[in-house]
Amino acid sequence: MVFDVVNQAKLPRWNRRFLNGYWIIAVISIVVSAVIAGIDSSNHSQDYPIALIGQFASWTCIGLLIVETALKLLKRWSDYIVIMGALILSLNLITAFPLVGPTLTTLFLPILTSVFYFQKRKILFAFAVSMIAYWSVYGLQLQNIPGYSWIDLFVMTNILIICTFLGLEVMRRGSDLMKDLRSTIASEQDLLVKNILMDKLAKTDALTGLYNHMSFHEYLEELIRQGEQNNLTFQLALLDIDHFKKVNDTYGHRAGDAVLKKVARIFQELVSANDFPARYGGEEFAILFTETDVRDAMHQLERIRQHIASVRHEELDGNPITISIGLHAFHKNCTKEELFGGADTALYRAKHKGRNRIELYQEPVTLTS
Ligand code: GH3
Ligand code: MG
Ligand code: MG
Repeated sequence: MVFDVVNQAKLPRWNRRFLNGYWIIAVISIVVSAVIAGIDSSNHSQDYPIALIGQFASWTCIGLLIVETALKLLKRWSDYIVIMGALILSLNLITAFPLVGPTLTTLFLPILTSVFYFQKRKILFAFAVSMIAYWSVYGLQLQNIPGYSWIDLFVMTNILIICTFLGLEVMRRGSDLMKDLRSTIASEQDLLVKNILMDKLAKTDALTGLYNHMSFHEYLEELIRQGEQNNLTFQLALLDIDHFKKVNDTYGHRAGDAVLKKVARIFQELVSANDFPARYGGEEFAILFTETDVRDAMHQLERIRQHIASVRHEELDGNPITISIGLHAFHKNCTKEELFGGADTALYRAKHKGRNRIELYQEPVTLTS
């Protein structure tokens, strides 16, 4: 069973807090005892003389200083030392003020402290040391005080057992909650991964892994919107494999598919992170160049064109393929259709001029009178 549900890395900080708390309790106990002794001197001065309070204060301080030292020297056992610190505080109070009933309740302190660690062995340790301590104090001191009897021993023993039982149950409940939380987190992470995968599947083309037609248009519309608002410049290139029908007819569709994948990989390798390569349809691709000017886009496309033309495909008996490219730069007030129309016209011209080349669409010159 998993009981270690507490983040162990943070425990040293919490141990420090516990010790600070003990110091505060010690100081408050000393002040309260001194005030009681001062105010109610007629009734209790003989029971709680100032000397006794001083003795309690000194023993508590000595005890806590020993705990502080042990904590520094025996870091491995720090949790047990902190539990013992609570016990020392409690024992000091009980032995100094045995007639003040509520001091006995401080015997819960070690068990309460141990629950914090959410570890069964620490709770059982706290229970064991509390029991030994209480029985010893009872045997050595309390049984000699009038008014104390074996019934006190019996009741207090039972209370400690109940307290320990509750501590263990709290820990088990915490453990259950942690397990629930972990499985919820795990299933949420699962869902997140699935969503990301679904999102990727919806946006990419299954054969080439490039962005698909739909996501390409979404991105293009967003770019045009930003281009209108922020004077952003970008370029659209349409790329078409030359004589691909012949490739399919000669070497088969499977060979054609393998070539499409290779071409897509070349695009992915040669475009920069800010560019957006997509499979527009069949053997037609589109690339959106952002943060570049037309010259840079032309340079990048030329590298792509040359690289593709240089690859020998074993699926095509070692023959290469070529691509034709049409490029059109976006300008303000250019609609999506105009942008596409320009790139398509340029592509058509590239095909017409003999393929395996890049053509840039030139805007028609408009004469203004
Ligand atoms: P051009 O140089 O004028 O572009 O000639 P082309 O033969 O490439 O032009 P066309 O558009 O006539 O032919 C495109 C071919 O691409 C037709 C089709 O068989 C092939 N094709 C389209 N999608 C796929 C695909 O997913 N896999 C394969 N293997 N072939 C495809
Ligand atoms: Mg083609
Ligand atoms: Mg085509």
